[in-house]
Amino acid sequence: MASTVYFTDTRAPVKDVSKWYQPDLSAVTRLEKLLERSGLLDDIVRGDIVALKVHFGERGVTKQLRSVFMRKVAGMVKARGGEPFFTETCGLGMRRDTNFATGRIKVAEENGYTHQTLQAPIIIADGLKGLDFVRVDLDGTQLKEVYVARAIAECDRVICLTHFKGHQSGSFGGSLKNVGVGCTAKPSKYDIHIKDYPKIDEARCNRCGACEKICPCDAITNYVIDTDTCIRCGGCVGICEEDAITVEWTSPAELDTRFVECAKAVMDLLGHDKFTFINFLLDITPHCDCHPYSDNPIVPDIGILASRDILAIDKASLDLVTAALPLPESMAEGVVGEKFSKIFPWTNADVQIEAAAKLGIGEREYEIRG
Ligand code: SF4
Ligand code: SF4
Repeated sequence: MASTVYFTDTRAPVKDVSKWYQPDLSAVTRLEKLLERSGLLDDIVRGDIVALKVHFGERGVTKQLRSVFMRKVAGMVKARGGEPFFTETCGLGMRRDTNFATGRIKVAEENGYTHQTLQAPIIIADGLKGLDFVRVDLDGTQLKEVYVARAIAECDRVICLTHFKGHQSGSFGGSLKNVGVGCTAKPSKYDIHIKDYPKIDEARCNRCGACEKICPCDAITNYVIDTDTCIRCGGCVGICEEDAITVEWTSPAELDTRFVECAKAVMDLLGHDKFTFINFLLDITPHCDCHPYSDNPIVPDIGILASRDILAIDKASLDLVTAALPLPESMAEGVVGEKFSKIFPWTNADVQIEAAAKLGIGEREYEIRG
């Protein structure tokens, strides 16, 4: 059965160019109307703690999701009696300036996201170091356990606000990635990217001791990693300047399948009916906001989609980008058909879609409702 994906088209041209004051044409107003007519927020119950899952981006991005959209959704949640908070998780690694909650909040502030601009608090979902999680079992083809960020596991509802764009390894980044990567703690981020425990290459190691110092659980002694103690945070991998810590990275297809499996585990834990997805097809850059820059959008702005179905909304978003005209002087210039897999030829945009369909976490078929 086809799932419903609600859509507001921000490409609609201005009909009366002689008229100045037309607030209904604002994309923020269109978002509000989309959410009102879809009824997707109507089951929020007074007192519900609602996680608004976003991605604050890396230092240097300029085309990430604007705070005006986030603030509008927070206001609509509050109007229904909910208590919203904005959230994301610490990244892989143990660098304090970016991979601790304190660093993430500083980056958020630098990118324009504060309690004042968002009108709701920011809480990093997996704790100070990204190691606060609820572990769940999973019978996936790639993963058998997933580490769900504690604040996501404990809230009443999740609304994912996703800047839909390309991704160097995943092909594209939509709601599946926002949940699968963004709602999990460090050990799952490690398992998504890396196949086995890290190893120290004696021949390359200069015995500087940086890895021992950064390890949060004293798993490294005399330049040997104890895999029984290692919790897979990725800290040593990121800190070694000699490339002496070796890991086996997952292939793009394995990475996609793994984060889709993580998304299933997160949704199973909380209940699929507790999730709402909003994809913003605005400033569709080829690279993810985890890069320290924003390159030219590959197509014109398209609009905003909302759905209860994580797969249907990503498939609809992908199809809309495929159908859109590629912009000149962008990485998609001259590309015909599906764009992301052509920009990043080692990836395949269908992998995420196929994996999600196989796991039954949504419908590939969708019906767009305006
Ligand atoms: S950080 Fe690298 S070079 Fe330094 S001790 Fe660890 S493995 Fe050796
Ligand atoms: S040995 Fe394991 S726990 Fe320690 S820093 Fe490396 S990945 Fe993290």
